[in-house]
Amino acid sequence: MVTNRVLIITGDTGDAETLLNTLGDAKDGPFVVECVSRLSDGVERLRAGGIDAIMTDLSLPDCQGIQTLDLLLSAAPHTPIMTLCDRDGEALATEAVQRGAHGYLTKPHFESSLLPQSLRNIIQRHAIEDAIFIERARAEITLNSISDAVIGTDLSGNIDYLNVAAEILTGWPRDEARGHAITEVMPLKSADTGSPVRHPVERVLQAGKPMGMGSETVLVQRDGKEVQVEDAAAPIYDANRRIRGAVIVFRDVMASREMTAKMAHLAQHDFLTNLPNRVLLNDRIAQGISLVERFGTHLAVLFVDLDNFKRINDSLGHAIGDKLLQSVAKRLCGCVRRSDTVSRQGGDEFALLVSEGNDAEHAALTAQRIVTALSVPHSIEGLELHVTASIGISTYPDDASDAATLLKHADTAMYQAKERGRNNYQFFSNDMNARAGERQLIETGLRQALALQQFVLHYQPTVDLDTGTITGAEALLRWVHPQWGLIRPRRFIGIAADCGLLVQIGRWVLQEACMQARRWEDAGVGLASVAVNISALEFSHKAFVADVREVLDATKLDPHRLQLEVAESSLMRDVNASAAVLMELKDVGVRLAVDGFGAGYSSLSYLTEFPIDVLKIDRSLIQKVSTAKGNGVVVGAVIAMGASLNHCVVADGLENHAQLAFLKALHCDEGQGNLFSPPLTADQFAALTVTGIPGRAALTRRRSRFRVA
Ligand code: C2E
Ligand code: MG
Repeated sequence: MVTNRVLIITGDTGDAETLLNTLGDAKDGPFVVECVSRLSDGVERLRAGGIDAIMTDLSLPDCQGIQTLDLLLSAAPHTPIMTLCDRDGEALATEAVQRGAHGYLTKPHFESSLLPQSLRNIIQRHAIEDAIFIERARAEITLNSISDAVIGTDLSGNIDYLNVAAEILTGWPRDEARGHAITEVMPLKSADTGSPVRHPVERVLQAGKPMGMGSETVLVQRDGKEVQVEDAAAPIYDANRRIRGAVIVFRDVMASREMTAKMAHLAQHDFLTNLPNRVLLNDRIAQGISLVERFGTHLAVLFVDLDNFKRINDSLGHAIGDKLLQSVAKRLCGCVRRSDTVSRQGGDEFALLVSEGNDAEHAALTAQRIVTALSVPHSIEGLELHVTASIGISTYPDDASDAATLLKHADTAMYQAKERGRNNYQFFSNDMNARAGERQLIETGLRQALALQQFVLHYQPTVDLDTGTITGAEALLRWVHPQWGLIRPRRFIGIAADCGLLVQIGRWVLQEACMQARRWEDAGVGLASVAVNISALEFSHKAFVADVREVLDATKLDPHRLQLEVAESSLMRDVNASAAVLMELKDVGVRLAVDGFGAGYSSLSYLTEFPIDVLKIDRSLIQKVSTAKGNGVVVGAVIAMGASLNHCVVADGLENHAQLAFLKALHCDEGQGNLFSPPLTADQFAALTVTGIPGRAALTRRRSRFRVA
């Protein structure tokens, strides 16, 4: 038997004792009784919890009358209360019952042997009421959250319940519908003949057994509109298996069909552009392949990747990025026939399935059309946005025999298009496949190269063109591959960037170069600075400046002994952001160089804005300058401008005496290239600083033989 805990609140100690005795003597099991004399003590005890019933006098030392009950009800709303009174207090006790007390006990019955049983009944009844209440609430919430309509009726088919969906579908609010016949609230007609049908509820009540989904009928709503529904009805039984009513469940057939179609569409389409997604594209390629088999034609898969989307997305925000993707999607659709498929693979990647008929050139024409269509700026929220695309093409049956391989090959060809300078298209070739394989090997190898200490730095001197003395060293990264030997950065830097390793590798280079600069300084090798190349990715990384500071601190290298070289093209990507980072670096105290100057952008105006120290003229310009003609005018202008801005101008990739003489005649400050020395190991470089550049005297002499036009 469960032990019940009763709290007695009365100021009358005699009454308390009597009740204690009565409850203590209970034959069918003990009560645990606690007594307090003041309401405040009672309320405090109730807050601690664990009380199953309260017996209280309404007249207490600190509170009298009905207010006592009100305070107890608010302190313990879920605990049954029995009030105690003498004969004169019965009116008040009755009022208390009306306000929520569960019963009252008059003084003559305090000793009644029936008291324990009636108290136990009150407690049990309260527990059952509580459970029913929770059960009802749960059922109500469940019924109102489902999309099916539910109506309950009594034995005569009169409504006693409607859920929210039923209210909406019939047009009858619950309060109005209650008591009306089901045939009135939910009139049904045959979908075929339009004549009234016998209501399923009536049939169920008569047959006494459930009926499954019937043939479709038409429900006439309260306002006269008609909807096609399907329904199921079942009788409700009581505890004695007697039928007490019926429940009918029904739904709008069209709405549920539309919902199913919508779900199917969502599963196969991209939510942003509403283009087919990769699942549907795969299906269409498979279908396309079987058609091609039958008619002996071709089909092509074009993989389209936007070249500079990430930058736009990062700098202008995702909302603009999304609109740009939608605009691109529209243009792509404009480049193909209706029978072709344009799909979005995710991010800034699209894939197109183009059926070629007998025309093998069709894919190339489509790709060219895409390149042209995308080259027109997209105007989005008042901004003119430029994106280009790199496109890879694979064809069936030449390149692959299934959808997955066709897509993979088109993707490989797209990478090739990226490597060829973006904004172009490439057909897949097996040779590319081999390169893609190599790319994969490099990627796997790179992931371990740092840990296995396979990177080294080589150093190439920069030389003062007047005196032939070594002024500094440029650190150039080399990967000593266990099988392939020494690998130059051109082969792996791009891959390291794509697989997210470049920032980590760059940090290693910075650290190693600074440590080496420190060692040389300690050994008395007199260099103005050691230069480190910084890729666009590192330069725009938010922790970059902090990293530079940290490395300088750790290696204790004087900041102006470190030169950071950033490619002109990297700086031009976002001129304002670049200027801000350069300013911060200037504050750190490092030397700043623009690398590869003149190779592409030749936008000179920013030079005055950026706090740079060194201009490195791109190798490609120097190589064309073997005579005073050719690009001499451009190089001359760059040198003159550098001088006027007080920048040190360095000619990169000096290979022969003719170039040297030409540059000396133009008063170029410094040079770097194989003419002086190829990149060397750190030890070889230290030795070179002792012996000096071979033929140094000859290098300084030749100046007078050239005149500048
Ligand atoms: P860069 O900064 O323009 O470096 C000079 C490149 O020119 C080096 O190629 C060097 O070996 C080469 N070179 C030097 N003298 C001559 C010459 O007389 N003729 C010719 N044709 N080439 C010459 P390398 O070492 O293959 O580096 C290529 C590029 O890779 C570098 O171009 C630089 O942009 C990048 N790079 C090198 N090391 C790193 C690094 O640690 N981090 C980053 N982010 N990039 C690096
Ligand atoms: Mg460089």
